Amino acid sequence: MILEQRAVEPFYKNGFVLGCEATKAGVVIDPGDEVDELLDAVAHHELSIKHILLTHAHLDHVTGVARAKEALGAPVWLHRDDHFLYEGVVQQGQMFGLRVAPQPKVDRFYEGVGPIRFGQYEVHVHHTPGHCPGGVCLAVNREGEPSPTLFVGDTLFAGSIGRTDLPGGSLDTLLQSIRGVLFAFPDPTVVYSGHGEATTIGREKRTNPFLQ
Ligand SMILES: [Zn+2]
Ligand SMILES: [Zn+2]
Repeated sequence: MILEQRAVEPFYKNGFVLGCEATKAGVVIDPGDEVDELLDAVAHHELSIKHILLTHAHLDHVTGVARAKEALGAPVWLHRDDHFLYEGVVQQGQMFGLRVAPQPKVDRFYEGVGPIRFGQYEVHVHHTPGHCPGGVCLAVNREGEPSPTLFVGDTLFAGSIGRTDLPGGSLDTLLQSIRGVLFAFPDPTVVYSGHGEATTIGREKRTNPFLQ
Protein backbone atom coordinates (compact mmCIF):
# COMPACT_ATOMS: atom_id res chain seq x y z
CA MET A 1 0.00 0.00 0.00
CA ILE A 2 1.19 3.50 -0.78
CA LEU A 3 1.18 5.42 2.52
CA GLU A 4 2.20 9.05 2.99
CA GLN A 5 1.95 10.94 6.27
CA ARG A 6 2.29 14.69 6.76
CA ALA A 7 2.02 17.06 9.74
CA VAL A 8 2.53 20.81 10.07
CA GLU A 9 2.27 23.47 12.77
CA PRO A 10 0.48 24.46 14.93
CA PHE A 11 -1.18 21.10 15.79
CA TYR A 12 1.27 18.66 14.19
CA LYS A 13 -1.76 16.51 13.40
CA ASN A 14 -1.08 13.64 11.03
CA GLY A 15 -2.87 13.62 7.70
CA PHE A 16 -2.55 10.57 5.45
CA VAL A 17 -2.70 9.61 1.80
CA LEU A 18 -3.25 5.91 1.05
CA GLY A 19 -3.07 4.41 -2.41
CA CYS A 20 -3.42 1.11 -4.23
CA GLU A 21 -0.19 0.33 -6.10
CA ALA A 22 -2.00 -1.60 -8.84
CA THR A 23 -4.90 0.74 -9.65
CA LYS A 24 -3.67 4.12 -8.33
CA ALA A 25 -6.98 4.58 -6.51
CA GLY A 26 -6.58 6.23 -3.12
CA VAL A 27 -8.08 7.91 -0.07
CA VAL A 28 -7.12 10.92 2.02
CA ILE A 29 -7.54 10.69 5.79
CA ASP A 30 -8.07 13.76 8.02
CA PRO A 31 -6.91 16.63 5.79
CA GLY A 32 -6.00 19.53 8.08
CA ASP A 33 -3.53 22.40 7.83
CA GLU A 34 -1.12 20.06 5.98
CA VAL A 35 -3.60 19.61 3.10
CA ASP A 36 -1.25 21.12 0.48
CA GLU A 37 1.45 18.61 1.46
CA LEU A 38 -1.10 15.81 1.14
CA LEU A 39 -2.17 17.06 -2.29
CA ASP A 40 1.49 17.11 -3.35
CA ALA A 41 1.76 13.44 -2.30
CA VAL A 42 -1.40 12.60 -4.26
CA ALA A 43 0.11 14.24 -7.36
CA HIS A 44 3.51 12.60 -6.81
CA HIS A 45 1.96 9.12 -6.82
CA GLU A 46 -0.54 10.08 -9.56
CA LEU A 47 -3.42 8.82 -7.42
CA SER A 48 -7.10 9.13 -8.15
CA ILE A 49 -8.64 9.88 -4.74
CA LYS A 50 -12.00 8.16 -4.22
CA HIS A 51 -12.86 9.21 -0.66
CA ILE A 52 -12.00 11.79 2.02
CA LEU A 53 -12.28 9.90 5.32
CA LEU A 54 -12.45 11.64 8.70
CA THR A 55 -11.55 9.83 11.92
CA HIS A 56 -13.43 12.54 13.85
CA ALA A 57 -14.37 16.20 13.56
CA HIS A 58 -12.03 18.13 15.86
CA LEU A 59 -10.80 21.19 14.03
CA ASP A 60 -7.20 20.03 13.58
CA HIS A 61 -8.51 17.05 11.57
CA VAL A 62 -10.88 18.96 9.26
CA THR A 63 -9.44 22.39 8.40
CA GLY A 64 -8.21 21.07 5.03
CA VAL A 65 -11.45 19.38 3.96
CA ALA A 66 -12.64 22.30 1.81
CA ARG A 67 -9.34 22.48 -0.06
CA ALA A 68 -9.13 18.69 -0.43
CA LYS A 69 -12.68 18.38 -1.73
CA GLU A 70 -12.18 21.25 -4.16
CA ALA A 71 -8.98 19.69 -5.50
CA LEU A 72 -10.04 16.04 -5.50
CA GLY A 73 -13.82 16.07 -5.93
CA ALA A 74 -14.23 13.07 -3.61
CA PRO A 75 -17.03 12.56 -1.07
CA VAL A 76 -16.42 13.47 2.59
CA TRP A 77 -17.18 10.76 5.17
CA LEU A 78 -17.82 11.17 8.90
CA HIS A 79 -19.56 9.37 11.78
CA ARG A 80 -22.94 10.94 12.43
CA ASP A 81 -22.25 11.36 16.16
CA ASP A 82 -19.52 13.91 15.32
CA HIS A 83 -21.69 15.93 12.94
CA PHE A 84 -22.36 18.57 15.62
CA LEU A 85 -18.61 19.10 16.00
CA TYR A 86 -18.15 19.33 12.24
CA GLU A 87 -20.99 21.82 11.87
CA GLY A 88 -19.49 23.77 14.79
CA VAL A 89 -15.95 23.97 13.44
CA VAL A 90 -15.99 27.80 13.37
CA GLN A 91 -16.88 27.83 17.09
CA GLN A 92 -14.20 25.18 17.79
CA GLY A 93 -11.70 27.62 16.27
CA GLN A 94 -12.95 30.42 18.49
CA MET A 95 -12.27 28.23 21.57
CA PHE A 96 -8.62 28.11 20.49
CA GLY A 97 -8.48 31.73 19.32
CA LEU A 98 -8.21 30.61 15.70
CA ARG A 99 -10.12 31.75 12.66
CA VAL A 100 -11.41 28.61 10.93
CA ALA A 101 -13.43 28.65 7.73
CA PRO A 102 -16.67 26.65 7.56
CA GLN A 103 -16.19 23.35 5.74
CA PRO A 104 -18.24 21.76 2.95
CA LYS A 105 -21.09 19.51 3.99
CA VAL A 106 -20.54 15.87 4.88
CA ASP A 107 -21.51 13.68 1.94
CA ARG A 108 -21.82 10.30 3.63
CA PHE A 109 -22.07 8.88 7.13
CA TYR A 110 -20.29 5.64 8.03
CA GLU A 111 -23.16 3.98 9.86
CA GLY A 112 -24.65 0.96 8.14
CA VAL A 113 -22.27 1.07 5.19
CA GLY A 114 -20.11 -1.89 4.18
CA PRO A 115 -16.40 -1.60 3.55
CA ILE A 116 -15.27 1.50 1.67
CA ARG A 117 -13.07 0.52 -1.26
CA PHE A 118 -10.14 2.01 -3.12
CA GLY A 119 -8.63 -0.24 -5.76
CA GLN A 120 -7.67 -3.58 -4.20
CA TYR A 121 -8.00 -2.21 -0.67
CA GLU A 122 -10.96 -1.91 1.67
CA VAL A 123 -11.59 0.20 4.75
CA HIS A 124 -13.63 -1.25 7.61
CA VAL A 125 -14.96 1.40 9.99
CA HIS A 126 -15.15 0.72 13.73
CA HIS A 127 -16.90 3.17 16.07
CA THR A 128 -14.51 4.12 18.90
CA PRO A 129 -16.15 6.92 20.92
CA GLY A 130 -14.64 8.48 24.04
CA HIS A 131 -12.28 11.18 22.75
CA CYS A 132 -15.43 12.49 21.04
CA PRO A 133 -18.81 10.84 20.35
CA GLY A 134 -18.22 9.98 16.69
CA GLY A 135 -14.59 8.89 16.70
CA VAL A 136 -13.79 5.92 14.46
CA CYS A 137 -10.94 3.55 13.75
CA LEU A 138 -10.31 2.97 10.05
CA ALA A 139 -8.98 -0.57 9.50
CA VAL A 140 -7.43 -0.84 6.04
CA ASN A 141 -6.47 -4.12 4.38
CA ARG A 142 -5.95 -5.53 0.94
CA GLU A 143 -8.98 -7.57 -0.14
CA GLY A 144 -8.57 -11.15 1.02
CA GLU A 145 -5.70 -10.31 3.37
CA PRO A 146 -7.10 -10.14 6.87
CA SER A 147 -4.32 -8.24 8.66
CA PRO A 148 -5.20 -4.53 8.61
CA THR A 149 -3.39 -1.29 9.30
CA LEU A 150 -5.25 0.95 11.74
CA PHE A 151 -5.84 4.70 11.57
CA VAL A 152 -7.20 5.56 14.99
CA GLY A 153 -7.41 9.35 15.06
CA ASP A 154 -6.96 10.65 18.61
CA THR A 155 -8.27 7.56 20.40
CA LEU A 156 -4.86 6.00 21.07
CA PHE A 157 -1.32 7.36 20.79
CA ALA A 158 2.10 5.79 21.18
CA GLY A 159 2.38 5.83 24.96
CA SER A 160 -0.75 7.87 25.57
CA ILE A 161 -4.51 8.13 25.00
CA GLY A 162 -6.81 10.84 23.65
CA ARG A 163 -7.98 13.69 25.86
CA THR A 164 -11.54 13.40 27.13
CA ASP A 165 -12.16 16.94 28.42
CA LEU A 166 -13.66 18.31 25.19
CA PRO A 167 -17.44 18.29 24.44
CA GLY A 168 -18.80 14.74 24.34
CA GLY A 169 -15.63 13.18 25.73
CA SER A 170 -15.68 10.33 28.28
CA LEU A 171 -12.70 8.53 29.80
CA ASP A 172 -14.68 5.37 30.60
CA THR A 173 -15.98 5.21 27.05
CA LEU A 174 -12.51 5.84 25.61
CA LEU A 175 -10.96 3.01 27.63
CA GLN A 176 -13.81 0.70 26.56
CA SER A 177 -13.15 1.59 22.91
CA ILE A 178 -9.43 0.93 23.23
CA ARG A 179 -9.75 -2.32 25.16
CA GLY A 180 -12.85 -3.63 23.39
CA VAL A 181 -12.25 -2.53 19.81
CA LEU A 182 -8.57 -1.68 19.23
CA PHE A 183 -7.07 -4.35 21.49
CA ALA A 184 -9.16 -6.99 19.68
CA PHE A 185 -6.72 -6.67 16.76
CA PRO A 186 -3.61 -8.89 16.79
CA ASP A 187 -0.49 -7.62 18.56
CA PRO A 188 1.55 -6.98 15.37
CA THR A 189 -1.15 -4.66 13.95
CA VAL A 190 0.39 -1.29 13.07
CA VAL A 191 -1.40 1.77 14.44
CA TYR A 192 -1.19 5.26 12.92
CA SER A 193 -2.43 7.93 15.31
CA GLY A 194 -3.63 11.46 14.75
CA HIS A 195 -0.54 12.86 16.47
CA GLY A 196 2.99 11.52 16.93
CA GLU A 197 4.66 8.36 15.77
CA ALA A 198 3.15 5.04 14.70
CA THR A 199 3.00 2.13 17.12
CA THR A 200 1.55 -1.39 17.33
CA ILE A 201 -1.32 -2.88 19.31
CA GLY A 202 1.07 -5.21 21.14
CA ARG A 203 3.43 -2.40 22.16
CA GLU A 204 0.56 -0.33 23.58
CA LYS A 205 -0.88 -3.35 25.40
CA ARG A 206 2.49 -3.94 27.04
CA THR A 207 3.77 -0.41 27.70
CA ASN A 208 1.04 2.26 27.50
CA PRO A 209 0.84 3.63 31.07
CA PHE A 210 -2.87 4.48 30.72
CA LEU A 211 -3.78 0.87 29.90
CA GLN A 212 -1.94 -1.18 32.49
ZN1 LIG B 1 -9.29 15.13 18.42
ZN1 LIG C 1 -6.12 15.83 16.93
